[in-house]
Amino acid sequence: SRTLRIGLIPGDGIGREVIPAGRRILEALPASLGLKFSFVDLDAGFDTFKRTGAALPEQTVETLKKECDGALFGAVSSPITATKGYSSPIVALRKKLDLYANVRPVKSVAPTPCFPDPIDLVIVRENTEDLYVKEEKTYDGPNGKVAEAIKRISESASTRIATIAGEIALRRQRVRETTGETSRKSMVTVTHKSNVMSQSDGLFRTTARKALEQAKFKDAGVVIDDQIVDSMAYKLFREPSFYDVIVAPNLYGDILSDAAAALVGSLGLVPSANVGDGFAIGEPCHGSAPDIEGKGIANPIATLRSVALMLEFMNQEEAAASIYKAVDANLVEGKLLTPDMGGKAKTEEVVNDIIKRL
Ligand code: NAD
Ligand code: MN
Repeated sequence: SRTLRIGLIPGDGIGREVIPAGRRILEALPASLGLKFSFVDLDAGFDTFKRTGAALPEQTVETLKKECDGALFGAVSSPITATKGYSSPIVALRKKLDLYANVRPVKSVAPTPCFPDPIDLVIVRENTEDLYVKEEKTYDGPNGKVAEAIKRISESASTRIATIAGEIALRRQRVRETTGETSRKSMVTVTHKSNVMSQSDGLFRTTARKALEQAKFKDAGVVIDDQIVDSMAYKLFREPSFYDVIVAPNLYGDILSDAAAALVGSLGLVPSANVGDGFAIGEPCHGSAPDIEGKGIANPIATLRSVALMLEFMNQEEAAASIYKAVDANLVEGKLLTPDMGGKAKTEEVVNDIIKRL
C-alpha cells in the first residue's frame, strides 16, 4: 500500500488544538483498510505573519503542490483592523491551488423536536470569484465616501462548480444505495438572485442548470432545482430535510453554509473541504476561537469530519465512512461531549472516545 502524505496547517488559536486530533484519527484508522499516512507540518496564519511577514509562506504552497496527497487546515485569526500586507491565507491557498469548490455537509445524527426528519445536505460553494475577487475601491462622492466591489461570475467557474455539485450528488446516491436508503431522490438546488442581478446571477443560474443537464446526471435521475437565495434560506430553515445538494456562488454559499451549521448545533461540529481537480484540503468551518484557546476544550468533531471529507475526495470512501460512524456513535451516546455541546469533556477525551469506536 502507498503512503499518503498529508500536509498539516494548524494556523492560529484552537487550530493548534484540533489539527493534532485530525492527525491522531488518521494514525488510528484500522490496519485492515491498508492505508498508511505520513505528515508534514506547515505554517500559515496571523502568528506566522507576525513572525515572518507572510501569512502564507511560499514554502507551504510549494510543499503542498510537490509532496502532498491531501491536507488539513485548522483556522486562522484575522487582525481586528486592516493590517498592511496581511491577507487571509486560506483564501490565498484556495486561489494558488485552484481549490474551486468549498464543500460543507450538514447532517443531523438524531431527530430533534424542531426537525423530526433527518437533515442530510451538502452546500457546494463556488470558491474563486463573485465578490471575493476583492476588487474594491473607495472614492469621494458628492455626499462623502463611496466604496465599490466587483461581483464577478464566469461561465467557466459556474460550469465546473455545478459539475462537481452533480458529481457529489451522484456519490451520495451511490452511498445511499449501499445503505439501502434508496427512497430519497437526488437533487441539486441552484441558488441565485437572478431576479435582481439578471446578468451576474443570471449567468450563474443558466450555466449551472446547463451543466447539470449533462447525461451522466440526467440518466442517474438527478433532479435540477432552482431557488432564489432569500426564499431558499427561509425554506432551508423551515424544511432542511428537503435539500440534498445546494450549489451557490461564493457569497451566498459562505453565508448559507455558516448559518446551516446552526441546524445541527455547534459550529464545532461542521466540517468543510476545499476541493480542486485532484486535491482537497479538509477544514473545520469554525474560526480560531480566541475565547476558548489554550483551554483544551475545543470540539474536535468538525476537524475529524473534515478529515473524513478529505478522504472522500481522495477516493478513500471506506476510511471516511469509518470516521463518520465513530463520530456519530460518540454523539448519539452523548456522554463525552465538549462544553459547546453542553458537556464537560476535554478535546483529548472526545478524540480518545472516537478512536476507540473506529
Ligand atoms: P469562531 O468560529 O472562532 O468562534 C465563534 C464561537 O464559536 C466562539 O464562541 C467559539 O468559542 C465557538 N467555537 C468555534 N469553534 C469551536 C470549537 N471547535 N469548539 C468549541 N467552540 C467553538 O468565530 P469568531 O469568534 O467570529 O472568529 C474568531 C477568529 O477566527 C477571528 O479572527 C476570525 O477572523 C477567525 N475566523 C477564521 C476562520 C477560518 O480560518 N476559516 C473562520 C471564521 C473565523
Ligand atoms: Mn465563512
